[in-house]
Amino acid sequence: MGFDKFGGVSFTSEAKVADFVSYLEQGKVMASSCKKCRRVYFPPRVDCSNCLTSDVKWFEIGSKGKLLTYTRVNYGPAGFEDDAPYVLAVADFEGGVRVFGRLSREINENDIKVGMALKPIVANLPDEKVLYEFAAA
Ligand SMILES: [Zn+2]
Repeated sequence: MGFDKFGGVSFTSEAKVADFVSYLEQGKVMASSCKKCRRVYFPPRVDCSNCLTSDVKWFEIGSKGKLLTYTRVNYGPAGFEDDAPYVLAVADFEGGVRVFGRLSREINENDIKVGMALKPIVANLPDEKVLYEFAAA
């Protein structure tokens, strides 16, 4: 099992960070950080591009996020045509984790405001696939 279960459109089946998907299946959205230089990664990495060590640790993204910016996608790229319209967002979480993802459709577009409190949730897709997205906190 690997990244073939991630999202509606899978780009690769094998990845060093395949544990990310296993964590999602447990309901956890995880990032990684380098044990040596403490750089934080999301999407998670298991090789630090700063100091080149592979000594990293996983940690769960907290539930206290803030919406930094967002955009409404009206015409999805290849593979996502049928999903549009949807909202993509960037949110900052505790510990310096900046996460890019979708806003939950549960959030009414009229209620979206920069700075609003968000939490990561795991969405279950057809064919036992999983995806993380942001919900109102
Ligand atoms: Zn490092």
